[in-house]
Amino acid sequence: MDKYIGIDVGGTNIKGVICDRSGKLFAEDGVPTGARSGGDVICKNILSLIDKMLKKADLSINEIAGVGVACPGMIDGRSGTVIFAGNLFLKDFPLGEKLSSALNIAVRVTNDANAAALGEAKFGAGSGYSDSLFITLGTGVGGGIIIDNKLFEGNLSAGAELGHTVIREGGRKCTCGRRGCLEAYASATALIDMTKRAMLADRNSQMWKICDLENVDGKTAFSCSDDPSAKKVVDRYIKYLACGLTNFANVFRPQVIILGGGVSAQGDNIVKPVQKMLDYQLFGGTKFAPVKVVCAKLANLAGSYGAASLVM
Ligand code: BGC
Repeated sequence: MDKYIGIDVGGTNIKGVICDRSGKLFAEDGVPTGARSGGDVICKNILSLIDKMLKKADLSINEIAGVGVACPGMIDGRSGTVIFAGNLFLKDFPLGEKLSSALNIAVRVTNDANAAALGEAKFGAGSGYSDSLFITLGTGVGGGIIIDNKLFEGNLSAGAELGHTVIREGGRKCTCGRRGCLEAYASATALIDMTKRAMLADRNSQMWKICDLENVDGKTAFSCSDDPSAKKVVDRYIKYLACGLTNFANVFRPQVIILGGGVSAQGDNIVKPVQKMLDYQLFGGTKFAPVKVVCAKLANLAGSYGAASLVM
């Protein structure tokens, strides 16, 4: 059976898979993105990841039927150009062209959250549902929308930027230039920021026992849930996230909302309280057309699988 490469470029790490149409995995690996070093370094890192995976799977690039790349930001899917990706500091960067000329094979590029929505719909938590929303909670907040079993991307695939919808007018500055976006409150970056501020405001917090400021991550506050300052951070984070998700649920009324990205590793610690708040706020209540909140089944491989499925 044909084999495909799927690459998911994140703000911190690039992940990848080699798989077939059934989802069977032949290799999986990751490398740091090097986002601050520019597009050419990102390209070089993608190529070295592909090389690593081919070696692992004992394959050559000639045995690969297609390469798909999932990348944050606004992507011109026809040319593979990254038009704008705030978290990767890229503007008008010809990612697809550079990769395909280095690999000598056609490369398709699409938005990372759209790819992950496709991956989950095909191989993961969205399978069996006609309408699903995928939300990634990582360096940024991305969205992927499946309506009637089809990915909805908007004009020139530039839509579905769910993280850049405002939940607090005039609120925190977002990387997109606007204020108050969901991304500025519900990304892992925002969670880390809130955690650091809570630690600085409470020198007696238990959080200081597990790490110093430099090592704070998206898990720090969740893993000290008995500590009042940590609990406050988690409660606020959940409140912001549930606000955004309820807005999306009221617009699209999907059967399921799938949470992906680093923060979703919290599992029930995040799903249960978010579900409760969403159910409480959902237009018309939950009896007719309920909306279920779940975690991504493919964990951090949803984007890579989705990227591979782009070229299947
Ligand atoms: C970008 C999205 C992307 C998301 C997750 C956001 O900042 O605008 O395109 O899907 O981050 O990477």
